[in-house]
Amino acid sequence: MELKEILESERIREAKKGFNLAFQTYLTNRQKALEEIDEEALKKDLRRIKEYSIKNLSALKAKAIENLKKQGVQVFEAKDSKEAKEILLKLIPEGETIVKSKSNVINEIGIEDLEKRNEIIETDCGDFLVQICKESSVHPVTPALHLTVDRIVRVVEKKFGVKLEERPEEIVKWVRSYLREKISKAKIGLTGANVISADGGIFIIENEGNISLVSRLPEKHIIVASIDKIVPSMQDAITICKALAIYGTGVSLPTYINVISSPSKTADIQKQIVYGAHGPKEVYLILLDNGRSKIIEEGLEEILYCINCGACLYFCPVYRQIFDNYGYKYFGGRGVSLISFIFGIEKAFERGLFYCTTCSACKEQCPLSIDIPSLIRKVREIAVKSNLTTKTNFEMIENLESVGNPFGETIKEKEIPDKLYCC
Ligand code: SF4
Ligand code: SF4
Repeated sequence: MELKEILESERIREAKKGFNLAFQTYLTNRQKALEEIDEEALKKDLRRIKEYSIKNLSALKAKAIENLKKQGVQVFEAKDSKEAKEILLKLIPEGETIVKSKSNVINEIGIEDLEKRNEIIETDCGDFLVQICKESSVHPVTPALHLTVDRIVRVVEKKFGVKLEERPEEIVKWVRSYLREKISKAKIGLTGANVISADGGIFIIENEGNISLVSRLPEKHIIVASIDKIVPSMQDAITICKALAIYGTGVSLPTYINVISSPSKTADIQKQIVYGAHGPKEVYLILLDNGRSKIIEEGLEEILYCINCGACLYFCPVYRQIFDNYGYKYFGGRGVSLISFIFGIEKAFERGLFYCTTCSACKEQCPLSIDIPSLIRKVREIAVKSNLTTKTNFEMIENLESVGNPFGETIKEKEIPDKLYCC
């Protein structure tokens, strides 16, 4: 779709309305949450943790795998999406219902093959609404930002024959009762993870409570997470969880922090360990690389400092105009940089590599001060080397080569050229 069409679409108009409401609430709440803490100290801590973790990723990964295995978690490493999907297909029997929670990494690998043979039910309220509206998510933390109350009510009535009042409370109440039944019957829980500590903890934060249910009630819990989620200790993981709550949703603490270190077990009968007490008997972790090692090799490791809080998106002038059309599965400037390694430089080019104005608003708002404009410039260099650049850039380069200035003509003194270029 052309940019003009995107900008004029109904979907983007609705997203803007939803975004403006969400943005004000987010700002007010975040301000309150930040007043309670030493923000600079938190930011310094976060940067230290992620710099160290990415620098020592191989060793930390080995340690995390060893500790988790010792505790009874079955760990698999997947070098790319294809391998991750093959593992999932082996672990999940055909026809079994899967209850799933929000996960960028599962979204990254794509689970279309699973969808063909298994019913997959999203359990995060926003994701569930996006799923039933046959839409796609526009924000990593607030996926249904673009769905209006009346549209949701119309879809629920048409699809489920249930007439709801046009109030968020009514919708949430119905979603809760509908999903509770599905979760209690499902045998497979599928989630992502926010952080993994090398001492053997898998951290998943949430406000709704669905992840607590999805990771406790089914017999099998499968977690898919990327390798850059690993940090040295539980203490470091908690720091990241706190930052995710503040910068992601504007609250001081997430409602729940799930820490999973082994399958559910009891030793209450004659001290013999029996797995599968109240929670899952089997816990699996799939650790995905999918281009991340390459990012480190190429010296762009700052891309991996990101904790996926989504704060930068609220302030990005490009994202605020076109939302999920700026990036693919991962949005904004950081998203575009990341996807150039996951889905290829062509994909990054197609999804807005040259849209970024390099204004640095994202860097200013990022709790890790990730220098997204610099990353974008470096990824653009890779794109140009692959002959991928905008028409305007091509013109500018041609002009420089032919007449020695980017305007393509001999400019007389004090004359303003027809076209102005900025790099
Ligand atoms: S530098 Fe680029 S990605 Fe960052 S806020 Fe500005 S336009 Fe968005
Ligand atoms: S780049 Fe920074 S602000 Fe943006 S999602 Fe990542 S950690 Fe959050």
